[in-house]
Order: sequence, then C-alpha cells, then structure tokens
Amino acid sequence: QPQSAGKLFQFKLVLLGESAVGKSSLVLRFVKDQFDDYRESTIGAAFLTQTICLDDATTVKFEIWDTAGQERYKARASLAPMYYRNANCAVVVYDITQTSSLDKAKSWVKELQRQADPNIVIALAGNKSDLSARRAVETEEAQAYADEAGLLFFETSAKTATNVNELFTSIAKKLPLDM
Ligand code: GDP
Repeated sequence: QPQSAGKLFQFKLVLLGESAVGKSSLVLRFVKDQFDDYRESTIGAAFLTQTICLDDATTVKFEIWDTAGQERYKARASLAPMYYRNANCAVVVYDITQTSSLDKAKSWVKELQRQADPNIVIALAGNKSDLSARRAVETEEAQAYADEAGLLFFETSAKTATNVNELFTSIAKKLPLDM
C-alpha cells in the first residue's frame, strides 16, 4: 500500500452496468491486481478501498461500492438511487461483445445524470477488450456517445489489465482536489 503523502482525498465510487459485463472483475483487478475466469457473478465484496497517489502532495482514496448492493436493489427500481446516492464518481460498464450492454449502460448514464449528484464524474468502460475478435460495439461509436454525453471513456480488460489503472487515474484527476 502506498503511504499517504500530502493531502488525502476520499471519494465514493459506484459501478453500474448489466450483469456479467465485468464490474466485479474490474474492481478485483484495480484493488488486488488479480483476475479470475471462473468467478461467480453473485459474489461481490460490497465495499473495497484503493488509493492512488496522483503526485507527492495528493493521494486519492476510492471507497468502491461493487455490484452486491446493485443486484439486491434491482428487483425494486425505487431503491436504486440509494446505491449511487452521495457517489462522487461512477464507472458505467458495458461488454464490447454485447450490444445490449451498451444500451443498458446508456440508460444508467441517463439515470445518473438526472438523479445523482450534479457534480458526479462518470466514466464509461467498454470492458473485455481482449475479446476483440468477438467485438460487437465499435470503439468510435462508443467514443462518440461518450463525448456527446460528457463522459470519460476507456476500453478496458480486467483480464489483461489493459487500461484499468488508466481508467481510475483519469477519474481521480477529474475529481475536485482543491478543497
Ligand atoms: P459483473 O456481473 O458485471 O460483476 O461481472 P463479473 O466481474 O462477475 O464478470 C463476469 C464474467 O466475465 C466472469 O466470468 C469474468 O471472468 C469475465 N470477465 C470479466 N472481465 C473480463 C475481461 O476483461 N475479459 C474477459 N475475457 N472476461 C472477463
């Protein structure tokens, strides 16, 4: 664990997206630098933390709320806002091999932009980029949507670790660090 140097900023981060797109896997990669091909989708630590040292004077600590809560609330749509209430940032995940998962991601973004904190930083992650042979969503299409909606955008692979640290670091850099 990095020593916290200078100022420590703490933020709540939530993950949203269709089931099986790799939300928990992205968290596992980011927090423990691990990947599990046979992970059961339902197992998901509800709450993990990870810190990023942006520079000598600035450390960002993410409190990460994984899918466990979200899956539980799915049956009752009215409870979903409890999950992202007070979130400073959100990672909305889709799977580049599943077009429907991008549609679901777009509906989460819409809901966040309507109902979450107006200052929330939202990143779109097109996960499973290692499966490009089965790609169904073009990078350019998702990038154009992200630009239009004002989202950070990365294609990631929890399996190979591609762009996972970059995703979280770019979120950290967009958060308010001048308090
Ligand atoms: P969640 O339901 O969105 O939390 O998805 P999981 O993290 O449980 O992942 C669902 C399945 O996709 C699991 O079998 C993972 O091993 C697999 N998976 C997750 N991320 C990746 C990835 O980047 N590449 C590949 N090839 N598989 C992945």
